Amino acid sequence: MRERIYRTEAIVLRRSDFGEADRLLTVLTPHLGKLRLLAKGARKPTSRKAGHLELFTRTELLVARGRNLDIVTQAQTAEPHRALRDDLWRMSHAYYVAELVDRFSEEQSENALLYQLLSDVLDWICESSDLALTVRFFELHMLSLVGYRPQLYECPRCASSLEPVTNYFSAEAGGVLCPRCGEAGRGLRTISLPALKVLRYLQTRTYAQCAQLHLRLSTHAEIEELMMHYLVYTLESQLKSVEFLEILRRGGMTSPAE
Ligand SMILES: [Zn+2]
Repeated sequence: MRERIYRTEAIVLRRSDFGEADRLLTVLTPHLGKLRLLAKGARKPTSRKAGHLELFTRTELLVARGRNLDIVTQAQTAEPHRALRDDLWRMSHAYYVAELVDRFSEEQSENALLYQLLSDVLDWICESSDLALTVRFFELHMLSLVGYRPQLYECPRCASSLEPVTNYFSAEAGGVLCPRCGEAGRGLRTISLPALKVLRYLQTRTYAQCAQLHLRLSTHAEIEELMMHYLVYTLESQLKSVEFLEILRRGGMTSPAE
């Protein structure tokens, strides 16, 4: 039988008001994946839990299993990430990474490395002198941890090693295409050699190494645009596959053998 009460560390990804005085929380945990929890009375001024359930706080929770939603019974802050609260620009980057984690992680599916990455990136955002670089590092490592690592070394169409030239980028193919395959696919965007080198570096090095990089503004703009394109494409295809699975579950598909 499952325990009625469990203990977990968690990072608060999202909060919304619920009922008169309660809060609905979406949190990421190291071993239980993403959870939706109810914090009863958390909006009352007298609540002892409230201060320990702020957005982006790493917190120790005691949770009681509920019929629909599990309920936070105790919370104790482990890391408040206070530097975020005094700085709107840092705060907006924290919102962005929390949103990505929310969308790319699954409920009750363990991903301890993703939890560690999120915990780290919130620390980095508190201190980073190049937030765009910090966020690009996060995006590439998150994509690897959730199974969408973009291919930056071999052309995913013809498997040839990519040459140090201007290549092409295809979100659909899952990475960087060689010039031959890239020119065959109409309307694909190019990727410059400096941008490819930076993406490879970010994908394979530690954060401490990457934090030393000084990028040109044009390279920053190029990799930001490429990553945004890839993330949007990946999320959209993921959403479609979820809808597709729903259709299958409901038995609403006509037989493909016609
Ligand atoms: Zn190719």
